Amino acid sequence: MGSRIALMTKDSSSISNADLVFDAKHIWHPYSSMREPLPVYPIVSAEGVRLRLADGRLLVDGMSSWWAAIHGYNHPELNAAANQQISAMSHVMFGGVTHKPAIDLARLLLEISPTNLTKVFFSDSGSVAVEIAIKMALQFWHALGEPSKSKLLTIRSGYHGDTFQAMSVCDPITGMHEIFSNTLPKQFFAPAPQCNFDEQWNDSDLAAMEKIIRSHHQEIAAVILEPIVQGAGGMHFYHPNYLKGVRQLCDQHNILLIADEIATGFGRTGKMFACEHADVQPDILCLGKALTGGYISLAATLANDRVSDAIADGRDNGGIMMHGPTYMANPLACSIAIASTELLMNSPWVERISHIESVLGKLFTPIAAFSRVRSVRVFGAIGVVELHEPVDVALAQRAFVDRGAWIRPFGRLIYLMPPYIIDDEDLALLVNAIESYLSCT
Ligand SMILES: *Cc1c(COP(=O)(O)O)cnc(C)c1O
Repeated sequence: MGSRIALMTKDSSSISNADLVFDAKHIWHPYSSMREPLPVYPIVSAEGVRLRLADGRLLVDGMSSWWAAIHGYNHPELNAAANQQISAMSHVMFGGVTHKPAIDLARLLLEISPTNLTKVFFSDSGSVAVEIAIKMALQFWHALGEPSKSKLLTIRSGYHGDTFQAMSVCDPITGMHEIFSNTLPKQFFAPAPQCNFDEQWNDSDLAAMEKIIRSHHQEIAAVILEPIVQGAGGMHFYHPNYLKGVRQLCDQHNILLIADEIATGFGRTGKMFACEHADVQPDILCLGKALTGGYISLAATLANDRVSDAIADGRDNGGIMMHGPTYMANPLACSIAIASTELLMNSPWVERISHIESVLGKLFTPIAAFSRVRSVRVFGAIGVVELHEPVDVALAQRAFVDRGAWIRPFGRLIYLMPPYIIDDEDLALLVNAIESYLSCT
């Protein structure tokens, strides 16, 4: 071991070939194979919208590191918040303890989120925030003496994370979790909404959802969905009336509504939270990803008084919300989240998002003409190119990198969700990279 330790370096800017061979042999990447690992690109630093590869090349980031880095990288204000908090205390347990970063962040989140929400549960990651939301819903009905209301209802093409309850409400096909189907709890699935955000609304879109609710409401604890934008399950933008209708059905049939805004939260769709497009207030709200501006993992599950009061009055569990992660409300993460959220609120984010939307819309027009392209769509700071066939990820990624773009396709989708600070030139670079990939393959 001694020699191996001696070989280690604290200089993250030098990555050798031996390092990459070690990586391929020993480190799993997201949804990767150890037998045939796809190429990974060594990144040594990042600033603004640019990622720096070990060989010095710069890539314009089209992904915001999966919805998270909304202000770009290496931001002086976020760095300052992190440094300041680290020198005070990086972490302390949350059991029997409290601290200013948690209090201030909770206050801030309750201020900007739908007005009915009054309680905050902090956790480590989006999937866990979803688990907690589901626990809240189950504990709610248990406390009210209706334990048979223990199933979830969701819509196809959704994505809610990689832990087990979260997997159980991902799309059974595109959710990438098929092999676990025997172990997963069986939930109810309505078809994905068909009416797109900007199309004429048709009431029949809700018919299947209504039918399931009418026949099974005694078993259903909550509807969980991603409001307006379905992310990793297919990148669809659906009609606000669908969400409104679901809220009404939930009210009529005594079902809770969980909004998973882990991807859509913090401005990405042009509203602070996507629920606002439909003027809908969920009973439980999940936040993550952009919560810390992409600096560090943190998530939150917010609830209204109806949910928290029922749980608090529950007799069999002493009124306790049954969860408590080790790193709950990590002060470092909370401080960065406060800085990131304030940075967002003090920026002209509404104008920026609508500008990105209109620029992407124009730049995408020629892309729609390619025969391999099934459709293009833009909503807020999200641009999607859907192909007829799945993309060869290794090939596409290489083509993008050769053109100075960081874009990570999946399935039949090539999509962009850049940091909000991106300028027109860099947006054009990203779209040109997609265009030249499409024209030469
Ligand atoms: C990414 C995502 C999750 C899971 O978050 P993790 O931090 O990856 O666990 C859950 N729901 C939605 C909508 C997401 O986009």
